[in-house]
Amino acid sequence: NASLATVDPEIAEQISLEAHRQHDGLEMIASENFVSRAVLEAAGTVFTNKYAEGYPGKRYYGGCEYADVVENIARDRAKKIFGAEHANVQPHSGSQANAAAYMALINPGDTVLGLDLAHGGHLTHGHKLNFSGKLYRIVGYQVRQDTETLDYDALEDLAKREKPRVIVGGGSAYPRFWDFERMRQIADAVGAYLFVDMAHFAGLVAGGVHPSPVPHAHMVTTTTHKTLRGPRSGLALCKQEFAAALDRSVFPGQQGGPLMHVIAAKAVAFREALQPEFATYAAQIVANARALAEALQGEGYRVISGGTDTHLLLIDTFQKGILGSEAEAALGASGITVNKNAIPFDPNPPLKPSGVRFGTPALTTRGMREGEMRQIAKWIAAALEHRNDSGKLQQIRGEVTELADSFPLYGWLREGVAE
Ligand code: PLP
Repeated sequence: NASLATVDPEIAEQISLEAHRQHDGLEMIASENFVSRAVLEAAGTVFTNKYAEGYPGKRYYGGCEYADVVENIARDRAKKIFGAEHANVQPHSGSQANAAAYMALINPGDTVLGLDLAHGGHLTHGHKLNFSGKLYRIVGYQVRQDTETLDYDALEDLAKREKPRVIVGGGSAYPRFWDFERMRQIADAVGAYLFVDMAHFAGLVAGGVHPSPVPHAHMVTTTTHKTLRGPRSGLALCKQEFAAALDRSVFPGQQGGPLMHVIAAKAVAFREALQPEFATYAAQIVANARALAEALQGEGYRVISGGTDTHLLLIDTFQKGILGSEAEAALGASGITVNKNAIPFDPNPPLKPSGVRFGTPALTTRGMREGEMRQIAKWIAAALEHRNDSGKLQQIRGEVTELADSFPLYGWLREGVAE
């Protein structure tokens, strides 16, 4: 029963360094967040020892009485948050939730319409190297070149031409609201199912600041670790008529035993998302993203689609002669973690794209508000301008760490880690 630090100091040290890295910098990757102490605690429990193949009341293993209670609570809370008829809390990840969603609705070879990766879609919406691109016939749709927003008339024309069995909504780098009602009308007109992957904005839906796809879509999936602020995992929701097909597709279709410790942590995160404070949190995420977008525009940067309705924004760095990869490196050296990102109709290749994606969920969890966003925009502009001046980047890093220090993260954890 020796501690981690005693049994494996090598790994304990890296965990400690990672805790410091998360504390000292500004985490602006749009898909990341910081879970609460309660969620972390639940994830690190003895439920990791338990096999619980099957579903509550119908398991293939004995000793599942407590696992059943936890999974039922997680399912009920997920349904309550989103007003869903059915929830499956077993997907290990967003990608596995998506695999199960397709499997529940269609067969290999069927046609799927998904937002192009280069226009903000996700790998699981049809990338040729992903299972989705290999199993299904994928047709990509795009944003309009002039507005950089979704073009529902073009989507309707495409759907009428291609006759898909599934239309996928949602993505990883689209900063605007989606019109789920219109998408359902398009799906109905061509006899397709509407499947919405709300991974990025699920927390905003939970907090009531983003339209919900749940009333409109046949199937909805999400990751639980982005704006929803739970452990790294997945969740699938659907109408009752697809419940049996979804459950069969998750287990035994895609997975074996569920990760019960992670399901326990998801249940805790869902409880947090049901509190009134979560709505305040979600509203602040969006207010922060808007403040950041405006401040970056004030610094002369072109923001894709002219702004944001959500937690994320994309800027065009190439307009100022800076590749997204160079921008990512300069910001990283300044203590600001982001990812390079393709912009719609990008003239540059994916590893050296024209833009950078920013998100505000993690900084909002730390308690930062619009004033901090304006200060951060100044550092971003300075870091990009002086990207080849390591002394200047070092100086910005010092200022960044000072700000980060005044919004403590996991203070209780830092007390226990080796300095
Ligand atoms: N769906 C969307 C829209 C995403 O952005 C992501 C992850 O970034 C996923 C699915 C995949 O989730 P995971 O990394 O848990 O497989």
